[in-house]
Amino acid sequence: MREFDALVVGAGFSGAVIAERLAAHGMRVLIIDKRPHVGGNAYDTIDRHGVRIHPYGPHIFHTNGMRIASYLSEFTTWRPYEHRVLARIGGQLLPIPINIDTVNRLYDLSLDESTIQAFYDSVRERRTTIANSEDVVVNAVGRDLYEKFFRNYTRKHWGLDPSELAASVAARIPTRNNRDDRYFTDTFQCMPEHGYTAMFKRMLDDPKISVELDVDYFAVRRQVRARHIVYTGPIDAYFGYCYGRLPYRSLRFEHEHLPATEQFQPVGTVNYPNDYDFTRITEFKHLTGQPHGGTSIVREFPQSEGDPYYPVPRPQNEALYKRYKALTAAERNVSFVGRLAQYRYYNMDQCVGAALKASDEILARVEMESRPLSAKFGLSERPLITGIEHTDAAGSARPA
Ligand code: FAD
Ligand code: UDP
Repeated sequence: MREFDALVVGAGFSGAVIAERLAAHGMRVLIIDKRPHVGGNAYDTIDRHGVRIHPYGPHIFHTNGMRIASYLSEFTTWRPYEHRVLARIGGQLLPIPINIDTVNRLYDLSLDESTIQAFYDSVRERRTTIANSEDVVVNAVGRDLYEKFFRNYTRKHWGLDPSELAASVAARIPTRNNRDDRYFTDTFQCMPEHGYTAMFKRMLDDPKISVELDVDYFAVRRQVRARHIVYTGPIDAYFGYCYGRLPYRSLRFEHEHLPATEQFQPVGTVNYPNDYDFTRITEFKHLTGQPHGGTSIVREFPQSEGDPYYPVPRPQNEALYKRYKALTAAERNVSFVGRLAQYRYYNMDQCVGAALKASDEILARVEMESRPLSAKFGLSERPLITGIEHTDAAGSARPA
């Protein structure tokens, strides 16, 4: 039996942030991951052609949380990068999120900022309640744009019609009344200059942190004793799938290197809503700025089986998640944090935010546990009634 102050299961954003925070406050931490590397889905590496790639799909960092950006800045320098995405519709490559240029080029119009909303108003289908992802898009831009840009992409990506998915899914993609063709508008949009993996290694580079890879929690849970456990894997797996499996959407990544090709496509990502079995192609050199005579790309093929990548936001899944979440109350000293353990469609920055919050809670609990009983229950160290003799454990009386 090995002993630590904390055991962290999963070395992705959620686990690595908590391990770093707890160690910074003096705790001895063991962090394990069943994969052979740190970084979780944000892991990056150099492929055999020398190009930096993201094996689990493109990861673009963006946040409005300056506390989150400045925290991560302790472990990396940054390269400014604003992601742009084009959607292949018919023979055209059009900006997504939909903006003035998307509409003008698709319908051969010359709208501007003073006329675009009137156009949206003329095509939108007003919905009194926005209950699902179809409602979100149809209510904003009408049926034709919905069918061209959203319906088939969503069916392909999730294996569900937009009407079967929570509104929050399509609401990730705004509709623009201007010409801004950036995918995100967050105040902080940068990539870690030397990659995500280097950033993770620096976070975990602390003598109080032991990192063990290729280790499955369920195989070792009886060999490690820890006062605090942080679990960032799928919540249903933790509870042995006792209420049945929570659906997670998976992907198959098809990586390709194109030698002697300076650039494959004009922007970081091109979406293919209506053609092919893949949803999008990403060319990594746009994201990283790496100079290289060749280029590496990835195609994403959605599938239901495989590693859990996306929680599937819809009411019946949320209800099942809540049943699992109710079980966590009995797991004293276990924190469930992250995209899989909280069954939340979190971006990286949201994982960091949730992990910082969980770290604060654990540290507050540790502090509470280390206080004398009197302080814990808000009692004065001095007896409230004076003049009574107190007896210590050895039975000898001492004056109050
Ligand atoms: P994960 O990264 O999934 O880490 C959990 C870790 O736990 C895994 O490494 C897993 O191996 C390990 N684990 C699970 N079970 C066990 C066990 N039993 N024993 C040991 N280890 C275990 N976010 C953005 O902000 N921007 C993007 O551009 C972006 N693009 C994305 C693209 C794709 C294709 C995907 C799938 C996600 C993307 N995300 C993006 C989201 C981002 O990946 C997540 O928010 C973040 O990586 C989740 O971190 P996490 O630590 O919660 O989970
Ligand atoms: N979406 C779409 N068409 C697009 C882009 C996005 O229908 O061209 C929908 C789709 O349902 C997708 C969701 O919006 O899953 C969120 O898109 P995002 O790019 O945020 O997905 P992620 O990068 O998380 O895979």
